[in-house]
Parts: sequence; structure tokens; C-alpha cells
Amino acid sequence: MESTTRPPVRLLVFGRQGAGKGTQAVRLAEQFGVPHISTGDMLRAAVREGTEFGQRAKEIMDAGHLVSDEVMLGLISERLAQPDAVNGWLLDGFPRTLQQGKDLMALTGADGIDLALDLDVAEDVVVERISSRRVCSSCGANYSVQVPPTSPWTCDVCGGEVTQRDDDTEQAVRERLATYLLQTVPVVKWFEEQGLLATVDGVGDRDEITNELISLVTNRLF
Ligand code: ADP
Repeated sequence: MESTTRPPVRLLVFGRQGAGKGTQAVRLAEQFGVPHISTGDMLRAAVREGTEFGQRAKEIMDAGHLVSDEVMLGLISERLAQPDAVNGWLLDGFPRTLQQGKDLMALTGADGIDLALDLDVAEDVVVERISSRRVCSSCGANYSVQVPPTSPWTCDVCGGEVTQRDDDTEQAVRERLATYLLQTVPVVKWFEEQGLLATVDGVGDRDEITNELISLVTNRLF
């Protein structure tokens, strides 16, 4: 797709933990030629860098809680101001609270978000998925015990080490699912009320789900 001639593509991807949000977000961003901006990946990068901010973020993430709205708004506004984001972006993991949704809308303007996608998967399905999830500690590519990288446990994309995330323990997962229900479901509903939400069944063949998401975006934007 020609990045210079097409309209901007500004997408949000919602979905509770384990819904397949990360995988689909990477594919969609590639398809539409926009940067994949994952706040979870950004925070994990800060943790790896070992900055003071990273250390604080790690405690919050490992407990399954959310980093403050104020800090997240700072991170995301800096990221959206980068040159690669001028012609669109795909946000994965932001906004995660009603406040973040309103902050984002204030930042982009009322017409600044094209579509929010919600990957719908039942809670008992995601608990099972998360406990078998494995992630590249360098680039964030997703794998699982059932679908490991070609050479266990080395990332097919970047050669990084593929491990289980520290916040994928059962206790932290339960915390995160409760947080999602309490904090994120209201912002998903808010986008729905504004006619900006499309919900897709997140159970089924990954490629078919990707195709469905691509058609939804294409029909809406082009
Ligand atoms: P998951 O969707 O499985 O929780 P993410 O990688 O999106 O994984 O996020 C991991 C953690 O990073 C979250 O549990 C939370 O602590 C923190 N985080 C990510 N995005 C946000 C955000 N927008 N607001 C607050 N905290 C966030």
C-alpha cells in the first residue's frame, strides 16, 4: 500500500489478556504500513534498560496493576510525535482506562481515530492460553508451548530469547483480567457508543481472524 497516497490509518486494538491482541496487532500494522505501538512492549523495554522508571514499572506490571494514566499519556504522546507516526499508527494496549481514552481523543482530535477493534474471547479460554504463552524478550513476538519457535527457544524474527513473561503467572493473570474488566471494559464501551468499535470473535483460525480484521479496516477506511 502506498504510504504517500493513502489516507492515514489510526487504529486501536482491544482485547483481554490472551485474546491474541499482540499477534493480530503486529499483522495489522504491517498490512497497513503503520507503526505497531504496544505500551506493554514499551514498558518492558524500559524494564530491560533498568532505568528507575523501568524498575517502578516492573513492580506495577508484575502485580498485574496499571501504570498511572499520567505517565502513560506522557509516553504515548511522545511516541505519536515521532516521524514514523505521521501517517497513522496502531495502538496495542492503549488506551486502557476511560481517562486514557479521553486523553487520547484530546490528543488526536475527535476525527483522529479511525477504528477501534475488539477481539472477543471468553475468560476461561484466555486463562488457558496465557499459561502456555511464551514471548520473545527482545522483540515481543508471541509463541506458545503448542506453537514454539522453529528452534526452541530462539525467536524466529530476531534471534532473541523466548521466555515466559514475569506477569504471566496465574496470580498476576487473574489480577490483570480483573483489572481489564474494571478499567478497560468501560473505555471499550465508550468507543462503541461513539460508533468507532468493531468486535471480532477472537476464537478460531488466526489467519482467518487476521483477514476479518483487515476487511473491517479496509471497508471502513478505503
Ligand atoms: P496484557 O494485555 O497481557 O496485560 P500488555 O503487554 O499490554 O499485556 O501490558 C502489560 C502490562 O503493562 C499491564 O499489565 C500494565 O501493568 C502495563 N500497561 C500496558 N499498557 C498500559 C496502559 N495503557 N496503562 C497502564 N498500564 C499499562
